[in-house]
Amino acid sequence: MLRQYKTIKEQYQDAILFYRLGDFYEMFFDDAVTASRILGITLTSRDNRNKKNRVPLCGVPYHSASTYLAKLIKAGYRVAICEQVEDPEEAKGVVKREVVRVVSPGAVTEEQILDDKTNQFLASVCFDKNWGASFLDVSTGEFLLCEHDSSEDLIDEIQGMAPAELLIAEGEDNNPVIRYLDISCLTRRPSFWFFRENARETLLEHFQITNLTGFGCENLRAGINAAGALLTYLKETQKGHLEHIERLTPIEKEDVLIIDDSSRRNLELVQTILGGAREGSLLHTLDLTVTPMGARLLKRSILFPSRSPEEINRRLDTVECLCKDRKSKQSSLTETRDRAAGPDSARNKPLRKELRKLLSAVYDLERLNSRVVLGNAGGRDLVALKKSIAPLPRLCELCRRSHGLLEEGSRQLDVLEDIHALLEKSIREDAPPGLKEGNLIKPGCNSELDELVSIVNDTKRHILAMEARERERTGIPRLKIGFNKIFGYYLEVGKAWVGNVPEDFIRKQTLVNAERYITPELKEFEHKVLSAEEKSLALEYRLFVEIRSKVALASSRILKAASFIARVDFFTSLAEAALNFNYVRPRVNGDQKISIKEGRHPVIEHAMPPGKFVPNNIYLDQESQEVLIITGPNMAGKSTVLRQSALITLMAQVGSFVPASEAEVGVVDKIFTRVGAMDDLRRGQSTFMVEMNETANILNNATDKSLVILDEIGRGTSTFDGLAIAWAVSEELVNKNGKGVKTIFATHYHELTELARIYDRIRNFHIGVREWNNSIIFLYKLLAGGTDRSYGIEVAALAGVPGHVVRRAEELLGHIQKDEFNSQGLPGIARKTGKRSKKKAGQLQLFQESTDSLRDKLKDLQPDNLTPREALDVLYNLKDQL
Ligand code: ADP
Ligand code: MG
Repeated sequence: MLRQYKTIKEQYQDAILFYRLGDFYEMFFDDAVTASRILGITLTSRDNRNKKNRVPLCGVPYHSASTYLAKLIKAGYRVAICEQVEDPEEAKGVVKREVVRVVSPGAVTEEQILDDKTNQFLASVCFDKNWGASFLDVSTGEFLLCEHDSSEDLIDEIQGMAPAELLIAEGEDNNPVIRYLDISCLTRRPSFWFFRENARETLLEHFQITNLTGFGCENLRAGINAAGALLTYLKETQKGHLEHIERLTPIEKEDVLIIDDSSRRNLELVQTILGGAREGSLLHTLDLTVTPMGARLLKRSILFPSRSPEEINRRLDTVECLCKDRKSKQSSLTETRDRAAGPDSARNKPLRKELRKLLSAVYDLERLNSRVVLGNAGGRDLVALKKSIAPLPRLCELCRRSHGLLEEGSRQLDVLEDIHALLEKSIREDAPPGLKEGNLIKPGCNSELDELVSIVNDTKRHILAMEARERERTGIPRLKIGFNKIFGYYLEVGKAWVGNVPEDFIRKQTLVNAERYITPELKEFEHKVLSAEEKSLALEYRLFVEIRSKVALASSRILKAASFIARVDFFTSLAEAALNFNYVRPRVNGDQKISIKEGRHPVIEHAMPPGKFVPNNIYLDQESQEVLIITGPNMAGKSTVLRQSALITLMAQVGSFVPASEAEVGVVDKIFTRVGAMDDLRRGQSTFMVEMNETANILNNATDKSLVILDEIGRGTSTFDGLAIAWAVSEELVNKNGKGVKTIFATHYHELTELARIYDRIRNFHIGVREWNNSIIFLYKLLAGGTDRSYGIEVAALAGVPGHVVRRAEELLGHIQKDEFNSQGLPGIARKTGKRSKKKAGQLQLFQESTDSLRDKLKDLQPDNLTPREALDVLYNLKDQL
């Protein structure tokens, strides 16, 4: 057996091998050591002939294996499941075993592991002239690919999809993409899997097509290579069928609003920066979906909003249509009248509400479908699938009455009536989880099965009759007929009555206070019952598999319905949010203008009592007001107004209504944010380095159609370094390519307000505070004009810094401010003692040019070549220049 184990293990070296032994999956050697540690199960050992070669071993029971499997997968391991593939009773020698499936973090269909609101992607990357990646969710069948010119863009794309496993070619570990990404499960496979010919051939063969033009990706290279390799890998691990993967979709770049990874995190789109929680993110606030498909679509739409005004407006039309009961709420009189009008008044029940009610009965149709296709679906899965498609006809009817994308979608919707009828007729609602215990198929579905079942039932009734008869014949009152697996049917007689047992009773078993017997008649029945039962179980299983295969053939139709359901859910959820949270429809167009009236932060407003959040206006365009410099003390609300402007723009481009009283959004192509001071310890970079990386990325990639949010740039270094960098960055942003970039810049360097004097398109704003009794009150209102103070000390006092420290700071501030500007109007903070220290003066180069020319002259001077007279002249000369 160990020899067999070793041969199999040889082929699955990078996986933990679950080796089926009776009712257990056993693990040996290193696998056992690893698994026992992760699973917290006992590691034992088995004597392999002599003591020296003890084999470490541990095992998990077959019936609860999935929990253990889930733990290993979540820990980033791969598990190869090796089953007995022949009947142990018929086997000669060691039972034949085979690996039937490899479960890896990126290729899971187990419910225990999947999060129903998130896609579980397996990804692969490839470099071939440019950067390509491919993504596949085995549990839903989605298969995507993309290409980018730069590795940074590719990294952003991959981080957005957050794959659970990344496939790469062997020897690629030094690839920049792989070095930068932090993915717990890296899988290496031969590089020829990624060669164009192999990869393309694999795809063509799988989809049964002759070229990839139909999928719109024939002209891609690196992306195709990545996709082909991914499919090869999946064939290796899944063994079973992959028919539910029926389309390869290029990720559209032209139409997508690009948000780089740090902006995604800074804006807390799908999780918070601290702790990575879902709660507190934009997604969490907006997600009122009721199906897993809808939740996944919403998440994806938030991570990849659109940039096409036409598409966005179509989405907004659809949401608006679903919001329609807003009017009827106001005119409740007409509503009452309509309700009294008769049966047709159902139409007045808000469409949205009715759709949501229907959707709430829908399970994860995409994942159910995948389990059907992969042959893992049980009776309960088919029942859930039936319930999930049951609302389709009504859903279709309702959508047909609406406008926009849902009405369009409903026109070609296949409501799967045949599949529903098939399942309704055949699968029992109370089907057990397993497939071998029967109770799967409804009566009346198959006559042979009905007959077998009736034999079983009849015989049972017969046995009850026999029990009564035997009691009467023998006069033993408590005689009963029972069944156990080893002895089969028996007659049981209490010890006290053993004397009354007739001669034809054959004794089989003795218990403490009873004896068990059989009779020829009982044996005969037993045979009939058992064979009928066995046959019926086998038949049920066969019928079930047949039905499941029929459903599998409808896979592509089911997936289309699932995608329709996802859209209905997505749009009704957006409508529900719009109504619940008092959002308005933004005007979206291709102009270069963003105008938000009374905008609110979609997440923070919920953390406050209603009405407490102070709304603010933001206006940006390319002619008069392109760069906003926002000053104000800490805690004034600068970061909040910055983020809310980015979030409102983004929400509009998702197709959502927005938290404002009015909004006009000229679509932006990219949103960049540089927010807060967060050490990125994971990547081993200091705060300042991260900050400068992000700044460099913005300056290199922002276009005149982008929106840039800068929060406190240059904080991680000395004041003058920081100020100088902030100044130069602002200049670049307002000048970039002659057009500039729409930017909102929050800063506590009030010196930056000077920029507005030099550049027309830079405008100053500040957040209002009122000074009161030596303290300040925050007004949270964004007002025109800059501030000349930072109020840092007041905030320190509010934060509880001891009084004497605050007073000392005030005193010091007085000294510093007195010296803040020297006689030439240049910042003088660096001057500590009356005399200017040379070292610090070096930091003032930005503002002081005259010292430079002196320095240059001195540098060029060669004292050895000067006559005493010349030297004296030079000295006078230099002195004159001071
Ligand atoms: P800053 O960036 O200026 O230091 P923040 O934007 O971080 O300030 O805001 C600090 C706190 O002030 C927020 O956590 C929030 O509680 C409150 N706040 C900010 N903006 C508003 C607003 N518009 N209305 C009400 N409270 C606000
Ligand atoms: Mg801030």
